[in-house]
Amino acid sequence: MNQKHSTTDLEATSNGIKKARGHVSQNEGLIFEKSVTGKRGIEFPPLDVPAVDAAKELGAEFARGSVEGFPEVSEIEVIRHFTRLSTWNYAIDLGMYPLGSCTMKYNPRVNEFVARLDGLATEHPSQPDAVSQGCLRIMHDLEKCLLEITGMDAASLEPVAGAQGELTGLLLIRAYLESKGSARKKVLIPDSAHGTNPASVVIAGYEVENIKSNGRGQIDIEHFRQFVTEDVAALMITNPSTLGVYEENIAEIAAILHERGALLYMDGANMNALAGITRPGDFGVDVMHLNLHKTFSTPHGGGGPGAGPVLIKKILEPFLPVPVVREQNGKFALDFNRPQSIGRVRAYGGNFGVLLRALAYTLAYGPGIRQATEDAVLNANYIRKHLEDFYDLPYNLPSMHEVVFSDARQKKHGVNTMDIAKRLIDYGFHPYTTAFPLIVAGALMIEPTESESKEECDLFIDAMRAIAAEAETNPELVKTAPHATRVGRLDEVAAARKPILRWKPRQHLDTTPHKIATTVVPTA
Ligand SMILES: *Cc1c(COP(=O)(O)O)cnc(C)c1O
Repeated sequence: MNQKHSTTDLEATSNGIKKARGHVSQNEGLIFEKSVTGKRGIEFPPLDVPAVDAAKELGAEFARGSVEGFPEVSEIEVIRHFTRLSTWNYAIDLGMYPLGSCTMKYNPRVNEFVARLDGLATEHPSQPDAVSQGCLRIMHDLEKCLLEITGMDAASLEPVAGAQGELTGLLLIRAYLESKGSARKKVLIPDSAHGTNPASVVIAGYEVENIKSNGRGQIDIEHFRQFVTEDVAALMITNPSTLGVYEENIAEIAAILHERGALLYMDGANMNALAGITRPGDFGVDVMHLNLHKTFSTPHGGGGPGAGPVLIKKILEPFLPVPVVREQNGKFALDFNRPQSIGRVRAYGGNFGVLLRALAYTLAYGPGIRQATEDAVLNANYIRKHLEDFYDLPYNLPSMHEVVFSDARQKKHGVNTMDIAKRLIDYGFHPYTTAFPLIVAGALMIEPTESESKEECDLFIDAMRAIAAEAETNPELVKTAPHATRVGRLDEVAAARKPILRWKPRQHLDTTPHKIATTVVPTA
């Protein structure tokens, strides 16, 4: 077991909290409260032009004498203030982010550099095509790369999230079927799908019909056949599913749908397990979306920008959102003249900065995308193998990009998946995804991605094994975690229902030790 993560060390850390309460970084207050009259963080050079009385020149209403409450602090105080605050956040730069279904991979710095280049970051989407040739080409090139990776025929880069891609794709299906005479009524969704899928289906005006997975997390083909009636517009499938399992009969499923005039939608947010290995376009998918902010490099989480391009087969092309990027004789243009289009789904052409990072990532990796996929799958299987003796594994199949355990064993000691996730914070890791997918009671959903080295995976495995041991020997310690953070377990219901969005001055400087730190943590 790794020394840094041994149980005793952690308990020592927990115990140390009492001493650490006065820790300057962890108790940083508001910058306004640091203000001391006369302190300053900058020194202006002497005026080398004649001084002007602004009130006289501009009129008193435009001349501001002072800024009320403006903090007067030194340069180092400003730097320390923000640096200290930054340490309260967890980040991929600090450690592993095993949040399942989210593909929280490391985003190479070079992509950030590219996204900030002059001539890209400074362009405006309202510029005429003639002076936007470079940007349009970037969009066009990205479409080509994504079509190559997915085996599809045409794309729209407009949707700015996976869920918006889903809605766009469903509206395309609706428009196509309407053009054939009937939009049909229902969309089938397996119970192992992502939660956004049924929501998108309802917003697109369809009814959801649920398909139960069998004991291997797969669609039962014979059972499925009965569901595909004349009322069914499409099957919307997450592949690999939220169980981290590949749908083995996907080609046959596509054939059954097509035979009955229905289409196959694939939620491609989990493409990190397929890219470079197999192509949805080749196994019968008619429409899909990608999450560029997962598979193709863009920092995400906390509601940051995303991109959920939709990729389609030829039959759906007339209905694509406007505008479509077109190339003619080496010139690029936005085509708005598309009478059958479903219309716009977003202003301009989507989140350009995200598209840019995705192209930089794709071109940098080239065929190496396959290696990234293989490493991501290898890491998930490595973690599965090393934790399967410690945690219950309800679907024991080879993992794709992620592995889903349950808390069944720890439950016997009163410890649930949320407790284990919170305890993981004490070991320096971001929690995995808890209690999802819904078809696994007490799920622990773990996605390491290709970014993690074997060494980092081992640290994670050590921590998870240590917590499994703690759940047996000291369940109270796990149930009251985290202990090594600035604040302990929050009342999540109150946080959601009665959020306090404004600091009351000094409230945060309360030096009363956290109740967990003083009452529950055993003194070893
Ligand atoms: C993340 C995710 C989505 C939703 O994507 P957003 O960009 O968050 O809207 C949909 N399906 C799956 C499988 C996902 O993992």
